[in-house]
Amino acid sequence: MSKILVAGAGGFIGGWLTKRLLADGHQVIAVDIKPMTNWYQSFSNADNHMMDLALLGNCIEATKEVDEVYNLAADMGGMGFIENHKAECMLSVLINTHLLIASRQNKVKKFFFASSACVYNGEKQDRPDIVGLKESDAYPAMPEDGYGWEKLFSERMCRHFYEDFGLETRIARYHNVYGPEGTWEGGREKAPAALCRKIAQSKIEKSNKIEIWGDGEQTRSFTFIDDCIEGTLRLMNSDVREPLNIGSDEMVSINQMVETIESIAKFKVERIYDLNAPKGVRGRNSDNTKIQAELNWAPSISLLTGLTATYKWIEGQLAQD
Ligand code: NAD
Repeated sequence: MSKILVAGAGGFIGGWLTKRLLADGHQVIAVDIKPMTNWYQSFSNADNHMMDLALLGNCIEATKEVDEVYNLAADMGGMGFIENHKAECMLSVLINTHLLIASRQNKVKKFFFASSACVYNGEKQDRPDIVGLKESDAYPAMPEDGYGWEKLFSERMCRHFYEDFGLETRIARYHNVYGPEGTWEGGREKAPAALCRKIAQSKIEKSNKIEIWGDGEQTRSFTFIDDCIEGTLRLMNSDVREPLNIGSDEMVSINQMVETIESIAKFKVERIYDLNAPKGVRGRNSDNTKIQAELNWAPSISLLTGLTATYKWIEGQLAQD
């Protein structure tokens, strides 16, 4: 049993990770800047705190006598948020930097940083029929402006804290994680949740028009939350110090994802394409050669299985509203 800090525990991935760590018998210190009433999930058997981890003093307090830190705290959202809040995204550098300094000071044994597929070079993602991104494709550096630069910088900061100070760091590059108990409305939601919400709302309101950002031919792969948590723990418990993709390699276009959600909802919609909306890169997929070789494991939950669980949860939230 370890004493573990989950930074960003009130968020989507942090909530699921806290649940799993508690179930595995660990002592969890769960911290988020949001009031606890706004956490997606909270657990009475965790030590819960509302704290701003952009501040060094709070990071030092939160890492006292802690064995492991999982940094899932960031000011982030889907394309609609990160294209219009670049400075706010970059300010998340304070969270990771101060958590690293505090972890070194308090002799934390292992540190996890949640990076992103947004670190990859944009020129390698300019077609829908893209080949999967290998970990080496992050260089030469040309990441997503704002959010991606912060992630790439923080990855390197983790690496140098190991090289210079011996702090064991692990870095996952998550690819579009989705599932229940995450952001599904309000402007920070990502494509799977947004499309589930739009289709569920159309079904409830019996109006079958939904807006799609771009022409719908842009491609992505989407990682179900259970695979994300499993991969995160496997990576943390490995000796892999280099960044590793944690992403599904089931690539689909946004139009194909809409068709899958329609089949789950048993409801067809008419798509109105907004070509001026934020779209991100043209094509993106995860190459899982390295994770398979290093961890003898890779995400495997199908988009249909994951979207079925996600759609049902979002439909339930809408019904409650
Ligand atoms: P999320 O927004 O649901 O959770 C992040 C949490 O961090 C939020 O609850 C937020 O309140 C908290 N936070 C923000 N600033 C804070 C601060 N100063 N102090 C303490 N807490 C603070 O996001 P998520 O989807 O759970 O993502 C978790 C991590 O994984 C983030 O670093 C994100 O960039 C990364 N990531 C996520 C995805 C994805 O598809 N969800 C993909 C790539 C990378």
